[in-house]
Amino acid sequence: MKIMDILDDKYTKKGTWIKDGVLMCSKECCGAPVSECSCDSSCKKCNCYNLKENNVIEATSNEMATLRSIVDNRQAEKIHGMMVDMFTASAMVQVYDKVNDENQAKMREMLTTPKGFQRMADFALSKIS
Ligand SMILES: [Zn+2]
Ligand SMILES: [Zn+2]
Repeated sequence: MKIMDILDDKYTKKGTWIKDGVLMCSKECCGAPVSECSCDSSCKKCNCYNLKENNVIEATSNEMATLRSIVDNRQAEKIHGMMVDMFTASAMVQVYDKVNDENQAKMREMLTTPKGFQRMADFALSKIS
């Protein structure tokens, strides 16, 4: 299994697309970089507001920051209510660091949902063992 098999475009919700590793607002909406979109959570055409709130467009998302802190502190922490141990966190950080900017952006978006997070954890562990 390759990373591309799990990073399918359904994680790029509501028409969000990626240009040169930058998440872009849906073409149905303004089509500008998500960071420049001024829509709020009521926009039906894009989810830029949520992406910004979850820090998906930043180089480091909340989830990735927590994963790195689990590895650095050698201490399990909760993400989406799940206890994530150092072994799992380390596997996920390794996968993340290996992929290109575009896939890192997709991974960050995927990690914002519990389901996506679980899928990524399973994938990372399958690569290690
Ligand atoms: Zn937008
Ligand atoms: Zn919009």
